[in-house]
Amino acid sequence: MSVLQTDIKFITGVGPKRAEILNKEIDVFTLNDLLRWYPYRYIDRSRIYYIHEIDSSIAYIQLKGQIKSFETFGEGRRKRLVAHFTDGHGFVDLIWFQGIRFIENKYKINQEYIVFGKPNLFNGKWNIAHPDIDPFLNETDRPDGFMPLYSTTEKMKNHYLNSKAMHKIIENAYALIKERLSETLSHDVIEAAKLISFQEAVENIHFPSSSAKLRDAQFRLKFEELFYIQLSIVRYTADRKNKLKGFVFSKVGDNLNMFFKKHLPFPLTNAQKRVIKEIRKDTASGRQMNRLLQGDVGSGKTLVALMCILISLDNGFQACLMAPTEILASQHYETLSNMLSNMNIRVELLTGSTKKKKREGIHAGLASGEINILIGTHALIEDVVQFRNLGFVVIDEQHRFGVAQRAKLWTKNNQPPHVLVMTATPIPRTLAMTVYGDLDVSIIDELPPGRKPVETIHRYDKKRGELYMFIRNQIKLGRQAYIVYPLIEESETLDLKNLEDGYIHMLEVFPEFTVDKMHGRMKPAEKDEVMQRFVKGVTQIMVSTTVIEVGVNVPNATVMVIESAQRFGLSQLHQLRGRVGRGADQSYCVLLTPYEISADTRKRIGIMTETNDGFLIAEADLKLRGPGDLEGTQQSGIPFNLKIADIVRDNDILYLAREIAEKLIEKDPKLEQQEHSVLKQQLSRLGGNRYDWSMIS
Ligand code: ADP
Ligand code: MG
Repeated sequence: MSVLQTDIKFITGVGPKRAEILNKEIDVFTLNDLLRWYPYRYIDRSRIYYIHEIDSSIAYIQLKGQIKSFETFGEGRRKRLVAHFTDGHGFVDLIWFQGIRFIENKYKINQEYIVFGKPNLFNGKWNIAHPDIDPFLNETDRPDGFMPLYSTTEKMKNHYLNSKAMHKIIENAYALIKERLSETLSHDVIEAAKLISFQEAVENIHFPSSSAKLRDAQFRLKFEELFYIQLSIVRYTADRKNKLKGFVFSKVGDNLNMFFKKHLPFPLTNAQKRVIKEIRKDTASGRQMNRLLQGDVGSGKTLVALMCILISLDNGFQACLMAPTEILASQHYETLSNMLSNMNIRVELLTGSTKKKKREGIHAGLASGEINILIGTHALIEDVVQFRNLGFVVIDEQHRFGVAQRAKLWTKNNQPPHVLVMTATPIPRTLAMTVYGDLDVSIIDELPPGRKPVETIHRYDKKRGELYMFIRNQIKLGRQAYIVYPLIEESETLDLKNLEDGYIHMLEVFPEFTVDKMHGRMKPAEKDEVMQRFVKGVTQIMVSTTVIEVGVNVPNATVMVIESAQRFGLSQLHQLRGRVGRGADQSYCVLLTPYEISADTRKRIGIMTETNDGFLIAEADLKLRGPGDLEGTQQSGIPFNLKIADIVRDNDILYLAREIAEKLIEKDPKLEQQEHSVLKQQLSRLGGNRYDWSMIS
C-alpha cells in the first residue's frame, strides 16, 4: 500500500475525532485526499495596506500597527472583545466572539503586529472579526507570498478546522510525505504537456513560492485531472471500436438513388451532405456506428435521418426512428410517408395509442420483414416488438430518453444496429467530449437557405395591449401563434390553472379567432387531434404548456409568445423559439416577464434577444448553470465535481489533454509499455465508477 493511502488520523494535528469530521464533511480519508484538498483561492500577503485605504472592494486586508486598548461588551453568549487597533493613519476594531480570555492575555498593548483578515463595515466603522495576528519582527520577516484559503464547513469550524488549521494540517502531511511523493503521470505525457513534477505541483499549490510557480502548479493539476478522464474515455472508445462489429452497409442502391433523383423536395445543404457522407463512411466500415448528430432547431436533421435509413434499406435492413412524444412521432410518420409515398417502401407508426389489432399487424409485419421503417415512441422498444433484421436506429431528441430505454434498442438484433442519436440541444464541444466521450459527433452548422432569423423581443407583461395588436395583425396575414406557459413542477394544478386562465383570456381577447389549448395531461389522442387542427390551420392560436417544445413543425406559425419567460432555462427558451421561423415568413418570439427580474434572468433574456445561434446559447447556458445541471450529464457518470479543473474555463487544457490522450492510445492502446504502467495504475485507482459509454447512446 502506498504511503499516500495512510489514514489522516495519524497526521499531527488531526487525530481520530477530527479525522471523523473530515471524513464526513469533505470526504477526506487519506493523505492523498488531504493533499488533493486544494485551496479555492489565494491571497497576496506581500502587501501591507494603510487603514485609510480599506474599502469594500478589498476582500482581505493586511495591516501593520498596534493595539491601543481592549474593551469587552455584552454578557454571556453575546459577549465580545474589541481591540482598538491603529497604524497611525486610522483606527479599526478587531473583534472576537470566542476565546476572549486567551486573546486578552496573548496580545500586548503597544506592540507592533501584523494583522490579517476580512474587513467588515458596521455602523459606519471598519472592523475585522477574528483576525490572524502575528508579531512583527522586522521588515524581512513578515509573512509574504500567497496565502491559500481552504473551504471549510460549519461543523469543521466548530472543531477548529478553519482554513488556517487546514493549511497547517496539510503542511504536516506534506512534510511527512514530501520525499516519497512519486510521479502520477508518465514521462512522455509530462514532456508533451510541459508539466512540472507532481511533487513540485503539490508543494506549490499549497505553499506557492511565486505567482509563476502557482500557475504552473495549477496547470499541472488541472491537466492531470482532465487527462485521466479523457484517457479513460479514449481508451474505452478505442477498445469498443475494435470489438464491436457492425453491419456493413456496402452499397447505395435503388431506394436512395430513386429518392435522391425523383423525390428529394429540395437540394441538400452542404452541412447535410457532409453529415450523410460521415454516416455512410461509418456504416460501411464494419464497425458499429454510434453517432451523435447535433443540429440547431430547423437545420434539417430529419431529412438526413431519412436518407441514411434508405441506405439501410438498400442493404437489406430494416430501420426505426424513435421520438419522445406521440405528436412528434406522428409528425415524423406523416413527413416520411409523404416523402416516400411514390416508392415501394412500407412505413408504419407505433405508439402507445395504436389500437390492438393494428398493433398486432405491425408486430407481424416487422417480424416478417414486410415493414421497412418503423416510426414510434418508446412503444417500439417493448420486448414484443421484434424485427426481422433491424440495421439502423435513429433516436430523435435523444436527451428526452433514459439511458436504459436507449440501450434496449441494441438488443433488437443479434448484433447491435447502427445508432444515430439526434439532438437540437447543442452541447458545447468541451462538454460533448466528456459527456458523450465515445460518440462520434456530427454537426449541421447551416440552416437551409431562405430562413429568416427569428426576431426576439423582451416585453414586460403589463404591456400586453400592443402585443395583442401585433398578434392580431399576424393572424390577419394568415399566420398562426403559440402562447406557451411554463410547467411549474411543484404544482401541476397551478400549472394547469395558469394555462386555463390564459386560454380563457385569449378567447376573450380574440373572439374572432379559433383558440385551442394543449397540455401534458391530455390523452395522446386528444393532443394529437388538437395538434392536427393547428397543423391544418383550423386553429390560429395554440395556448400550450411546453409539450410543444420538441420537434413539431408548423411552418405557418410565426409568433411564439412565452409567458413567464423568467421560469425557463436558456436551452428551453431556444428550443421553444425553434417552433417558429420554420417557413419563409419573418417570425417573432416574444419573451414576457414581470417588471422585476433577477440579474440572471436579465442575462438569459439578453442572450436570447441577441443571438439565434444554438451553440452560442448552449455555451452561455453552460457558463450560467455549470455542467452538473445540463441535460444528460447526470446520467453520464462523469465526476463533474472536479477538484481543480473547470470544464468551461479550462477548455484549452481539456483539448490538450484529449489530444495527448489520443496520441498515446494510438501508440499504446492497452497501456502495456513499461513507461505507461503508472497511467494504468492511476486509471484503475480513479475508475471507481466505471463509465459505460455505449449505454449513453
Ligand atoms: P430539425 O433539424 O429541427 O429536426 P427538420 O428536420 O424538422 O429540422 O427540418 C426543418 C424544416 O426544414 C422542415 O420543414 C424541412 O422540410 C426543411 N428542410 C430540411 N432540409 C432542407 C433543405 N435542404 N432545404 C430546404 N428546406 C429543408
Ligand atoms: Mg427534429
